[in-house]
Amino acid sequence: MTQRKVRVRFAPSPTGALHIGGVRTALYNYLFAKQNGGDLILRIEDTDSHRFVPGAEDYIIEALTWLGIHFDEGVGFGGNYGPYRQSERREIYKKYVDQLLDSDHAYIAFDTPEELDAKRKEIPNFQYDASTRMQMRNSLTLSTEETQALIASGHQYVVRVKIEPNEDIHVNDLIRGEVVINSSILDDKVLYKSADQLPTYHLANIVDDHLMEVSHVIRGEEWLPSAPLHVLLYRYFGWADTMPQFAHLSLLLKPEGNGKLSKRDGDRLGFPVFPLEWHDPKSGEVSSGYRESGYLPEAVVNFLALLGWNPGNDKEVMSMDELIQAFDLRHCSKSGAKFDYEKAKWFNHQYIQMKDNKEIAALFMPILEAHGVKAEPAYVEKVVGMMKDRVSFIKDLWQTTSFFFVAPTEYDEKTRKKRWKEDSAAQLTEFIEVLREHEPFDIESTENAAKAWIESKGYHLGNIMNATRLALVGEGKGPHIFDITEALGKEESIRRIQRAIEVLK
Ligand code: GLU
Repeated sequence: MTQRKVRVRFAPSPTGALHIGGVRTALYNYLFAKQNGGDLILRIEDTDSHRFVPGAEDYIIEALTWLGIHFDEGVGFGGNYGPYRQSERREIYKKYVDQLLDSDHAYIAFDTPEELDAKRKEIPNFQYDASTRMQMRNSLTLSTEETQALIASGHQYVVRVKIEPNEDIHVNDLIRGEVVINSSILDDKVLYKSADQLPTYHLANIVDDHLMEVSHVIRGEEWLPSAPLHVLLYRYFGWADTMPQFAHLSLLLKPEGNGKLSKRDGDRLGFPVFPLEWHDPKSGEVSSGYRESGYLPEAVVNFLALLGWNPGNDKEVMSMDELIQAFDLRHCSKSGAKFDYEKAKWFNHQYIQMKDNKEIAALFMPILEAHGVKAEPAYVEKVVGMMKDRVSFIKDLWQTTSFFFVAPTEYDEKTRKKRWKEDSAAQLTEFIEVLREHEPFDIESTENAAKAWIESKGYHLGNIMNATRLALVGEGKGPHIFDITEALGKEESIRRIQRAIEVLK
């Protein structure tokens, strides 16, 4: 048997911002496709016009592009199996709806919402299925003439799948193994609505997976209950031989307690659940995103990849290429993965350390500019190199490094009380002269010169260093003193010490 080409798809519905769980689904599809030399398709499932949200499609593409999840085909990427937006495939679906009707695997139903409601009141736990369909207004209970007449007179209808009861349906799942569901619990799902001349998710999804030659369906656990119907549809269409392999990914769970990770958890605990900031066009509400919160895309990818899968060893920091090599669907966990936000921060910290200073500096420059700082890239690079191990986010570099760019105008009161001694002003006045004389101004030789002078005078090393730090930084924090003086340079260092003496003496 020839091996089928691996073709997978990410098939979001544009109903709002892409949730971080959806991003993980896209990522796993990408890793699987790349590992197998296959194709990844972006299909937009927009057949439910009531839930359509403008901007959602662009958002999805922008988010996945930012993360380095690239598509080979699909909306925005072209390809030979298009169109890839389901709302543009109306004509294609019609034929398949007719095929199911002709083969008696589906029927036309005219029940109005009011009639359905009345039935729900009459029959507890009403379900439209083999046990009830003969009490309803549909092409199984009406004559062919009546059915045709209703359609001809413009009555709206739906097409429902006709599920035969009492059959065990086997779904083979690469993650869960064999799942068996009895068809009696399924209802006669709506596959098509005349009102908008569009199929529903189930029909469009199956037809498209078939026509686009999808080999594996990797999607969230929430779609597992739909899988038995999908297996049946493949059979009804006569496509069982090329049915894709299923893999249903476990849920992303709340950081604490039980249940699915929701936007509310993010709001409550202060972390984003969306890849990019999202401006809800209806409510006007703005939700935070990983990108705007200062995450590097590599860190988000690495973090998400390990939520629900691991490489089988304790390796954690992995590049996209390493992930592609190591990924294995069969090692995805069946149980949900708890969302660990601290871990996300940890990954971001790791990636900031791994990136070269030039790159970090480039990301930091706009933040500096926003604070009104104009600095030489080489200087920013130097500062970043010195300080990046102290931050988990690029934006936190400002807090940590601002004194390298802006001289202190105020001095932290607490530090001043503790660190600025009675003789500090006099000693630092002398120290200025030592610094002025000293050449070159590099870390080591300046430190040696300072120490030699302190020793010769019998001064207290700690006191002088603390007072100098207060003068240079404005508070008690920062790296090694002579790292600071070297970066600031002689003139600026002296100017800051002078100013502190004037203000604090
Ligand atoms: N449109 C579905 C969604 O929004 C796709 C489910 C599937 O991948 O089959 O997730």
